[in-house]
Amino acid sequence: MIEVKETATKIDTKVPRLVTPLPGPEARRLLKLDERYVSPSYTRDYPLVVRTGRGAMVEDVDGNIFLDYAAGIAVCATGHCHPEVVAAIQTQAAELIHMSGTDFYYARMAELAEKLASVAPGNEPKRVHFGNSGTEAVEAAIKLAKFHTKRDKLIAFNGSFHGRTLGALSLTASRAVQRKGFGTLIAGVFHMPYPDTYRGAYGIRPEHAAADCLGFLENELFRRRVDPEEVAGIFVEPIQGEGGYLPAPVEFLQGLQKICRKHGILLVADEVQCGMGRTGKFWASQHAGIEPDIICTAKGIASGMPLSAIIARASVMTWPPGAHGSTFGGNPVCIAASLATIKLLEEKYIANAAHMGDFILKRTANWREKFRNVGDIRGRGLMLGIEFVRDQKTREKAPDFRNTIVQLAFEKGLIVLPAGENTLRLSPALLIDEEQTEFALRTVEDCIREAEKKA
Ligand code: PLP
Repeated sequence: MIEVKETATKIDTKVPRLVTPLPGPEARRLLKLDERYVSPSYTRDYPLVVRTGRGAMVEDVDGNIFLDYAAGIAVCATGHCHPEVVAAIQTQAAELIHMSGTDFYYARMAELAEKLASVAPGNEPKRVHFGNSGTEAVEAAIKLAKFHTKRDKLIAFNGSFHGRTLGALSLTASRAVQRKGFGTLIAGVFHMPYPDTYRGAYGIRPEHAAADCLGFLENELFRRRVDPEEVAGIFVEPIQGEGGYLPAPVEFLQGLQKICRKHGILLVADEVQCGMGRTGKFWASQHAGIEPDIICTAKGIASGMPLSAIIARASVMTWPPGAHGSTFGGNPVCIAASLATIKLLEEKYIANAAHMGDFILKRTANWREKFRNVGDIRGRGLMLGIEFVRDQKTREKAPDFRNTIVQLAFEKGLIVLPAGENTLRLSPALLIDEEQTEFALRTVEDCIREAEKKA
């Protein structure tokens, strides 16, 4: 066993400790450098320049310590630098860093594939293809769906985010800026409304969102625009992430699966954000009891190391040698991190995500009465969204209000991210505890009060 190399810094607090005005002097220096040299396409909400992280805490380059309720966009499932994950990475890095699983075999790749296959819903045997990022998992799923069905049309949802490479971007329908200027994307992609149980499809009948969306698919899309026999796959996030932390109703996902099976369409669950235990079950699909033909996973899979995978029914993943591959996909160091991560998730963190999710939903149950700008609080496990509105009756969206909350939280040492137009996402590491959560919620309450005074 190799000893974990400690950095000089020890984060010795479970709640924020700010020691300079934000951003501090060293952060300001690095922000200037970043502004000069780094791609302007990135979307930073506030000037946080991180140096180190432990558990749910991060320390910036000036010694300010923050409570992290974003976990690197829902990635650091086991927290920052979990000692068991770090040890696995260090041990593996000292043995073998790279070989390329596309061309060679190496220890542990098949073991992780076996593990992922064993936890995927359904009894049919599964196979796994590895990549490096969420968007690559979606690309692989697009290619596999087309290859297997010999069909070329795809269906995805309004508000969805599947990634930024050109295939995944063709499915993404989140924000126009993500597509603007990139010309024609892949042909044959159709979008349909996502069952938003707060706003309804096209802002009507929220209580019928599931039935209305399924009706749209069968009565509108299949009748007027695309014959179901030409559709290779329907790509769905069981909980929409970037779209605003919106869970699809159970009956919708079950209905979608039924329609897919009826027409020989592959059901592809994009669990890049909602998978790996975040919702209190290994997969968000399990809350609905569905068995997707392909699952896309990334983000939380290796606690921050770049790894993704698609897990498909073995009878679907029948492409021949050479059909798809990746130089780095399933890199040995990432695989070691993933095996350590999954062990921790199964031992304790998935259960903790379920427990803490219930804790937060109970603790915030009266927020709609307490705060006039809180419209909806929803989600599962530690994938929770708070949607802000100008008026609870009209449900007019309040993006500026939400943005103010994000800024105020940062100034108080709480790291949170927006999702969708007007939702605040809570997506901490799955190891978060009640004390830290209580602190985070009190901070958000303070921010809402301040923002309501300003509004
Ligand atoms: N799919 C979903 C559901 C996502 O949330 C994301 C990223 O936010 C992606 C795909 C793309 O992942 P990546 O940024 O790793 O390419």
